[in-house]
Amino acid sequence: MVLVTGGAGFIGSHLCRRLIEAGHEVLCVDNFFTGERANVEGLFGNTRFELIRHDVTFPLYVEVDEIYNLACPASPVHYQFDPVQTTKVSVHGAINLLGLAKRVKARILQASTSEVYGDPGVHPQPESYWGHVNPIGPRACYDEGKRCAETLFFDYHRQHALPIKVARIFNTYGPYMRPDDGRVVSNFIVQALRGEPITLYGDGQQTRSFCYVSDLVEGLVRLMESPPEVTGPINLGNPVEFTMRELAELVLQITGSKSAMVFRPLPQDDPRQRQPDIRLAKATLDWAPTVPLEEGLKPTIAYFDALLAGRLTAV
Ligand code: NAD
Ligand code: UDP
Ligand code: UDP
Repeated sequence: MVLVTGGAGFIGSHLCRRLIEAGHEVLCVDNFFTGERANVEGLFGNTRFELIRHDVTFPLYVEVDEIYNLACPASPVHYQFDPVQTTKVSVHGAINLLGLAKRVKARILQASTSEVYGDPGVHPQPESYWGHVNPIGPRACYDEGKRCAETLFFDYHRQHALPIKVARIFNTYGPYMRPDDGRVVSNFIVQALRGEPITLYGDGQQTRSFCYVSDLVEGLVRLMESPPEVTGPINLGNPVEFTMRELAELVLQITGSKSAMVFRPLPQDDPRQRQPDIRLAKATLDWAPTVPLEEGLKPTIAYFDALLAGRLTAV
């Protein structure tokens, strides 16, 4: 039995489907803070799939063989809505799931993040870079929570010989993101489809590197299946870097939208640049992304188009 916390979220729902397709039994745990039952609706008829409403900041007693710990809001808008709860989710959530893993001797994978690098002084970011995070800023609840979770994972590994896997996930996008998620890819697509202005924060020259969700899920599964000595942290992301302006232009081109671009203030502590160094993932997991941004945007746009037209029930 594989436990996926945050399994009704964007990445979690893709992971649940992927694990079910591979023949696993999947226990999806979610408190539906940003996730939706509709995201995993297609699995409800499957006898190998179970869904529990539960908040991971509270203890959880179940019997499982593997744990993917994805529970945590990921969009700045959502993780800054209740910052104290965000830190609790990462820290108390990690303690509870590590305690569970220790009791049942399960292998446990943490969905960490490129945010542990903060506004990076090294570019691209290798796993050996310790980061540049403002510990008291508005992003700290997420960044420091995820950094503390990594600390807990490595201390349980050293202290209790727990088999751990830590993935540092870079910006990932695809179908099943929320239209009100607030992250850049969903914002731009929804704005373009509605004919509303595309909101570029700052001058739009800051960069991100966008990974399509199927590539990311493949990386997570390969990491979980890797030999015990492979603990990570290991970067998973697409190394092709774009400015936000380039992303906006690409979305306008693919949707054929006539939306104008408007400039809005840059949020505090917004990282200027971000690009994963994925040499470790290539060497250790034989993994590299296969879906270019132009290709991944098409099914993502088609998903939001159907959602906004009322042809899908999610959100
Ligand atoms: P998401 O917000 O769609 O999914 C998070 C899920 O966790 C949601 O279903 C939410 O309801 C659930 N959740 C939140 N708090 C919970 C709690 N206390 N108990 C149980 N469930 C809870 O975000 P996502 O993009 O799918 O991200 C999944 C994971 O990957 C997160 O841990 C995130 O930090 C990490 N990550 C994502 C990205 C990305 O670009 N998408 C990048 C880096 C890291
Ligand atoms: N825990 C859990 N499920 C389990 C085992 C433990 O939720 O199956 C939680 C428990 O609440 C505990 C935490 O995980 O507070 C850490 O467990 P650990 O055994 O490491 O520490 P201890 O119980 O000694 O505090
Ligand atoms: N961004 C933007 N317009 C939006 C939403 C985000 O220009 O409508 C910018 C944001 O300032 C950041 C980048 O896009 O520089 C990525 O933001 P997102 O919230 O998706 O993720 P993160 O900052 O956590 O990488």
